[in-house]
Amino acid sequence: MPRVFSGIQPSGELHIGNYLGAVRNWVALQDTYECLFSIVDLHAITQPYEAQDLAPRTFDMAVGLLAAGLDPEQCTIFVQSHVPEHTALMWAFNTVAPLGELERQTQFKDKSARLESVAVGLLNYPVLQAADILLYRADLVPVGEDQLQHLELAREIARRFNARFGTDYFPEPQPLLTGATRIVGLDGQAKMSKSLGNTIGVLESPEAIWEKLRPAMTDPARKTRKDPGNPDICNLYSLHQHFSPAATVAEVAVKCRGALWGCLDCKRVLADNMIAHLAPIRERAAALRAHPERVREILAAGAERCRRLAAGTMAEVRRVMGFLPAGM
Ligand code: SF4
Repeated sequence: MPRVFSGIQPSGELHIGNYLGAVRNWVALQDTYECLFSIVDLHAITQPYEAQDLAPRTFDMAVGLLAAGLDPEQCTIFVQSHVPEHTALMWAFNTVAPLGELERQTQFKDKSARLESVAVGLLNYPVLQAADILLYRADLVPVGEDQLQHLELAREIARRFNARFGTDYFPEPQPLLTGATRIVGLDGQAKMSKSLGNTIGVLESPEAIWEKLRPAMTDPARKTRKDPGNPDICNLYSLHQHFSPAATVAEVAVKCRGALWGCLDCKRVLADNMIAHLAPIRERAAALRAHPERVREILAAGAERCRRLAAGTMAEVRRVMGFLPAGM
């Protein structure tokens, strides 16, 4: 069975951008592939963060993923820093990773432009990503268009390592284009992201969901209820497409174009459908929070399995790189 690897940052509570853009696909993939899903806390520390928040954010993400439908009987869920081989392999890859390519990565250029002082960890982020994938010799990586560049770099690193050490040990992982959706935030401007404060959490209460949807950006042409709108340029309409039944989606388009209702009416219907869709996830999360030891056990079992796989890879990496075996 082909092996899939993917990771998600421990941004705390899962938001609907993560859910619709990635995690919902992961839930489907676990039926067909051998899946390894990682909460990538080592990546998270390349951006400014508060140390006391990292562990709770990691735990909350684990709760979110399990509640969203990842099943530890069907896939492996683990925390990246619980498997030290990720950084060991990254160091080996640092010796073949091309600096010029790293500097040309779009995400590095974007993120570094916003910082006064740029740490090496941010530059090396894609090298760690290559190590994440290749540590498990994953065949497939579910990616959106915006991550294809990082995956291509991982393939380049695999090729360079194999060529440098005369091996074919590392496969070139292939993209698994899952039709991942780019979910725009409530500001109607940028991709939904916790750091931009434009998200709705999957586990938020019905009241909180409504409070966030109510002021959300719509088609600016609808200044008053009598102005017709264009649903195709309204982010709320795209959310209807994910959460509302097809008949409602069609009705929304007609009522918007014909100015047959106000945006607040439209948002209320969306809120009700979103709340109903997310209710079972919220219930599973509450059950998991009542038994945090169960979450810790799942993460421990996931890390143990990954450490076993990773130890095999690192033994081979050390051998082909010519290190003196320990204890000799
Ligand atoms: S009626 Fe609905 S789809 Fe149309 S602009 Fe308002 S919120 Fe958007």
